[in-house]
Amino acid sequence: MKYSLNWDLDSLFSGGINSAQLKAKLAQLKTAIAALGDLLDRWDAASDAPHYQQFNKIITQLQAIESGIGQAGLFISAVGSADINNPDVAPVNARLNDLENQADNVSGKLKKVLVQVPDANFAAMLAQPDLQPLAFNLKEMRNDGKELLDDKTEALINRLDLDGKAAWSAHYDSLVATVTVPFHDANGQPLTLSAGQADNNLLGNADPQYRAELLPAWEQAWTDKEQLFADTLNHLAGFRLTEYAAHGTTDFLRQPLKDNRLSAATLNTIWQVVDDNKQFLLDYLDRKAALLGKKHAGWQDVEAPLNLPGSHLHHFTYDEAAAFIIKYYGEFSPKMAALAQHAFEHHWIEAEDRAGKAPGGWMESAPETHESRIFMTFTGSPNDVSTLAHELGHAFHSSVMEDLPYLRQDYAMNVAETASTFGELIVADANVKAAQTPAEKITLLNAKMDNPVAMFLNIRARYLFETRFYQLRQQKLVTPAELNELMLNAQKEAFGHDLSTYSPHLWASKLHFYIDDLSFYNFPYVFGYLFSLGIYAKAQQEGNFEDAYIALLRDTANMSTEDLARKHLGVDLTKPDFWLAGVKLIKRDVAEFMRLTDSLVN
Ligand SMILES: [Zn+2]
Repeated sequence: MKYSLNWDLDSLFSGGINSAQLKAKLAQLKTAIAALGDLLDRWDAASDAPHYQQFNKIITQLQAIESGIGQAGLFISAVGSADINNPDVAPVNARLNDLENQADNVSGKLKKVLVQVPDANFAAMLAQPDLQPLAFNLKEMRNDGKELLDDKTEALINRLDLDGKAAWSAHYDSLVATVTVPFHDANGQPLTLSAGQADNNLLGNADPQYRAELLPAWEQAWTDKEQLFADTLNHLAGFRLTEYAAHGTTDFLRQPLKDNRLSAATLNTIWQVVDDNKQFLLDYLDRKAALLGKKHAGWQDVEAPLNLPGSHLHHFTYDEAAAFIIKYYGEFSPKMAALAQHAFEHHWIEAEDRAGKAPGGWMESAPETHESRIFMTFTGSPNDVSTLAHELGHAFHSSVMEDLPYLRQDYAMNVAETASTFGELIVADANVKAAQTPAEKITLLNAKMDNPVAMFLNIRARYLFETRFYQLRQQKLVTPAELNELMLNAQKEAFGHDLSTYSPHLWASKLHFYIDDLSFYNFPYVFGYLFSLGIYAKAQQEGNFEDAYIALLRDTANMSTEDLARKHLGVDLTKPDFWLAGVKLIKRDVAEFMRLTDSLVN
């Protein structure tokens, strides 16, 4: 084998989770945070004028602290993901959370200090050669500062958050670990599934009958504990709403939009485009149902694989997957291909299929050493190759920004999901093109539809639910029955009343509703997906696209998302046109799927 299935973490911190090097790093960060706090207390804009050297020192130190926290954070979550039963991870993680909390306090203090700087001094500061590249970020910090309460109150809120939002989010994980689904295996033998195993089977088991029987058992498992989940969701959201109210707003979309540097107008346009253009996906689902021998698809069929006779999919070895990604990345961008190759060669990826690993996949960058690490489980399916391509897309994004100041690398989730989806699209298309038979092509096109169906229908439903839930939560505690009803109605609306079954307990089973530092963990995915489709459409039209793409990625933490699109793509995101160009690409795939399956259903 050419490439290793295991990553190297020792080059980040040697000696595992109890590494002396890591301990020293955490201690050094603690000292640095305290020192920065002192420096800030003593800083005064007027006496620092005209060169603002002291301020430059402050902002440099803040960035060093945040990148140090990033480096340590990646290492700790990497160790934890690769070995979920390691008891030493949680205490070290708690120390890091504590440091993050202190760093947040200092950064909040800095934001408020910036508010006190007179406009003329602030403009003069931004004109300094060292500070000029950070102008957007400093303005953003100053605007944030205007909404902050006094230091003591902000520190108290941060402190309470550890036993508030953050605690409810962690409590969710503990609750999910107790959920079991009594069911049976393929031969009818009784079997108890964990929530994760049941979820994988519900969405991915190849037998439609098995999935259909599993859905009621799945819903029952969440029903049994629905009061506990409802409490958790209510309190997490309640804490958040109180925090918003303390900062003078009842608009629960304000913060998520701000986090994504996105305007409400753009978000509304995206949803309009989605709602106006979902019929072809509903037609696709009807066709899929017909191929499964049904009139209407059920909730459990939406993402299911199609097992057509003669569709034996290619099984990739890890080396083949690497070669495939490097080859097709290279057709778009030699630099993307080079980064992927570097990642495989330098042990950035943990891909081994073994017990004791966390589910899912992620990429995090190591800002101090200009590297990344990717976590996933590789079993050899085309889907795994796509996941790998997705995470390598994230890694490419980070790599093209590594020379920028740390604040300039702080891109938001919506644009983060752009580079990853772009990487995934390249490889998914290559997979479809490489299909040997029509049956294989149908299977792969069907798998490729998972993304648009998730974005246009499933995530649309989650957004509708979350919006309505927050509205109701502003008035009262929401009961499990009400949550089920809100979710069921949102799903029916998003799926055009086209499914034969739904999953009303999705509000309990979906982790994304319980993430503490980001709410509305849904629309940024839809943005990233459609934005990358728009870029992909452009890349296919224009020959030499690499430089323009890299220039766009480098600006992702340097302006609002609307400005980014205007500057690098010449488009107005508040208008439907750009989004519709991406929709056209999905329609093309669906049309081909319909053409290839016509003769199979009539
Ligand atoms: Zn991603």
